[in-house]
Amino acid sequence: MAVPTHAKGEKPNLLGMTLPELTAFFASLGEKPFRAKQVFRWMHQAGVDDFSAMTDLAKSLREKLPEVAAIVAPTLMTEQASQDGTRKWLLDVGTGNGIEVVFIPEADRGTLCVSSQVGCALDCTFCSTGKQGFNRNLTAAEIIGQLWWANKAMGRDPKGERIVSNVVMMGMGEPLANFDNVTAAMDIMLDDHGYGLSRRRVTLSTSGIVPALARLKARCPVALAVSLHAPNDALRDVLVPINQKYPLAELLAGIRDYLEAAPRDFVTFEYVMLDGVNDSVAQARELVALVEGTPCKFNLIPWNPFPGAPYQRSSNNAIHRFREVLQEAGHVVTVRKTRGDDIDAACGQLAGQVVDKSQRRKIIPVMQTGA
Ligand code: SAH
Ligand code: SF4
Repeated sequence: MAVPTHAKGEKPNLLGMTLPELTAFFASLGEKPFRAKQVFRWMHQAGVDDFSAMTDLAKSLREKLPEVAAIVAPTLMTEQASQDGTRKWLLDVGTGNGIEVVFIPEADRGTLCVSSQVGCALDCTFCSTGKQGFNRNLTAAEIIGQLWWANKAMGRDPKGERIVSNVVMMGMGEPLANFDNVTAAMDIMLDDHGYGLSRRRVTLSTSGIVPALARLKARCPVALAVSLHAPNDALRDVLVPINQKYPLAELLAGIRDYLEAAPRDFVTFEYVMLDGVNDSVAQARELVALVEGTPCKFNLIPWNPFPGAPYQRSSNNAIHRFREVLQEAGHVVTVRKTRGDDIDAACGQLAGQVVDKSQRRKIIPVMQTGA
């Protein structure tokens, strides 16, 4: 197992290394594998980023590690809490870039919405991240760093279970376009010595990069959500331009193949509800015919507006009628509740506004860490 590369002159960042990578790194220092396991547990189970606090390491190793390695999470800028319990953290990932991480509490779980890129190159017409364009891929440390922070902030329940019980890769960016870093971060999420999440509790959402689905199936098959948004190629070509490269027939075949290895035996189709664009009863029927033979559930997402976008959110009536058609055909359908509206934490609204961080910092107090 190779040790991940790092910029020249920079110490390797241990936070983003999978356990096998960390073990290889420790071997390169002449240290035994169990040392890697100890450090891994300190970082991910105890939330520690200071070698001197790792009390079960030999003193000589504790002193040597800061000279050859670092543990660097993104810097926390602000924290916001919504009336409905949703929390949002703004993390600084350098050179003026911010990423937002959202925690959504529900009755039976706590879900963290994690970003994979700064911006996105895929340019879906209804998505504010897409409209920002692509800036860069997040590193594995920056991706796992989001869960690391959220766990520090949320902690555990009285039974000792972590409050963050589920992760969805549904923040900014297209996770399958940052395959290596996303899968490394997911390995750490799933590792029993890391966050110990089961594959059912980690969901990757993709707009449909079909060849990467086959790679994901082989590498790290977690629960799958696919952003469908249209019942035919003509409309999907416009809304989700990657469809021009990987049209619906290929996408659906790729999904069915993926499901052979997935921890859940269905895909969740996300379908953003755009007034007069994709929300008619006829389109719902077309959708039913399209997904015939692909085990699936639907999650209808009332579109969240952003400035300059050429769309309106579908009416509640239209969403209701659309849902009925799918349900009458035997499908399970949920309508995503808009959470965190008051703190701009809804789907597709993330980190569009990190223009002037100095200003935001004045408005919102920086969270006390070490919770
Ligand atoms: N790039 C991935 C994951 C991130 S987007 C993907 O596209 O699947 C997570 C979900 O939010 C996707 O289903 C996306 O289509 C949806 N979304 C994007 N912008 C939105 C908006 N303005 N309102 C509602 N949902 C939006
Ligand atoms: Fe990228 Fe997903 Fe937004 Fe499309 S919907 S632009 S794939 S983040």
